[in-house]
Amino acid sequence: MDFQPSEQQVLVRDMARSFAEAELMPRATKLDRQGFIDPDIFEKMGELGLWGLTIPEDHGGAGMGNLELAIVLEEINRACASTGVTLSVHNSLLGSPIMQFGTQAQKDRWLPELASGKRIGAYCLTEPNAGSDAAAIATSAKLEGDEWVLNGTKIFVTNGAFAGLFVVYARTDTSVSKAKGISAFLVPKETPGLSIGKAEKKCGIRASSTTEVILENARIPKDALLGPLNAGFKVAMYTLDGGRIGIASQALGIGVAALEASIKYSREREQFGKPIGDFQAIQWKLADMSCQLEASRMLIHKAAWLRDRKENCTQAAAQAKLTASRAANYCADECLQIHGGAGYTDHFHVERLFRDARITEIYEGVSDVQRIVIARGLVPA
Ligand SMILES: Cc1cc2nc3c(=O)[nH]c(=O)nc-3n(C[C@H](O)[C@H](O)[C@H](O)COP(=O)(O)OP(=O)(O)OC[C@H]3O[C@@H](n4cnc5c(N)ncnc54)[C@H](O)[C@@H]3O)c2cc1C
Repeated sequence: MDFQPSEQQVLVRDMARSFAEAELMPRATKLDRQGFIDPDIFEKMGELGLWGLTIPEDHGGAGMGNLELAIVLEEINRACASTGVTLSVHNSLLGSPIMQFGTQAQKDRWLPELASGKRIGAYCLTEPNAGSDAAAIATSAKLEGDEWVLNGTKIFVTNGAFAGLFVVYARTDTSVSKAKGISAFLVPKETPGLSIGKAEKKCGIRASSTTEVILENARIPKDALLGPLNAGFKVAMYTLDGGRIGIASQALGIGVAALEASIKYSREREQFGKPIGDFQAIQWKLADMSCQLEASRMLIHKAAWLRDRKENCTQAAAQAKLTASRAANYCADECLQIHGGAGYTDHFHVERLFRDARITEIYEGVSDVQRIVIARGLVPA
């Protein structure tokens, strides 16, 4: 076993850290208040190759693995969780399934534009009546001649406002049990009949985009099918294994930011004639935070390593997400407490960390769904 990061991993971590500290940290609170990410940030991410981090070099990407992506996402989310989720969804929920299930023509058509950031990716699974029970989706796809015709409404779509390519999950067979009649489709934004609906106002990650995506007789060519017909639920679940490693990395980054802010404040703030960091009660909080974060990092890196080896990482990814998202919320909560009254105000960025951490226990599978996945591995049906 080797815990030493490779030379490439150190380089990409340092590159992401420099970018995050120079471009995101000073602006994250402003982005949160304005509710969107400035376009120049996306451009700089393109220049650094972040949009194509895991896309192969022959399709214009950097050809790195899930472990490098996890390392980068920790750094980006340490500075700005809104930018972090935007990047995570693009890489792990769109690039990844195209690389795994796409035809050569689909890879040639879409991967270069995803790698450069010309098109940002979005993942459309959730519907008003299908959240944790994702197999209950009602959006339909019917073949008419050489075209698929899609109808339905997707909700809570990250990157919806500016995405150029959507992977849409729709029902293609109603005669079989619900998970077996779903297919995945690649739908570009210029598709007639596709429109962007309501944008959500959120508790946290406010600068990220979360919208409805409406499909009204949206026509796409027959070859827009991603993966085999009626195997879309498998595509969705394979994709989410990677996505969960991304969200666990997001949670880790938020948690690290909370620990760093806590250490800084506990040295500066004095009560009863000494820095509050001299009180053992504060030191124990810091110790517990560091343990939870280090354990999360180990689980994340193990899950990413398994995925890079093309081994099953379903259980490991769920363990990483469950643990890291709880750690992020624990750390953000204790961080706010360590900051006392000031932590509850906008004098510090810790109230943003507290709000941003919350979503990591909800999206890409709530914590209860992660427990179901983990338990299924322990006690197979
Ligand atoms: C900001 C944001 C961004 C998102 N981005 C995307 C995206 O890009 N693409 C996409 O497709 N979706 C996205 N989602 C949707 C997200 O994945 C779902 O919200 C999530 O899976 C939970 O579904 P739900 O909201 O319908 O909650 P529900 O499934 O209705 O859950 C409600 C409660 O019931 C509990 N519960 C449900 N089932 C069980 C069970 N079997 N056992 C025990 N408890 C259970 C849950 O734990 C939860 O506490 C996003 C959501 C948000 C808020």
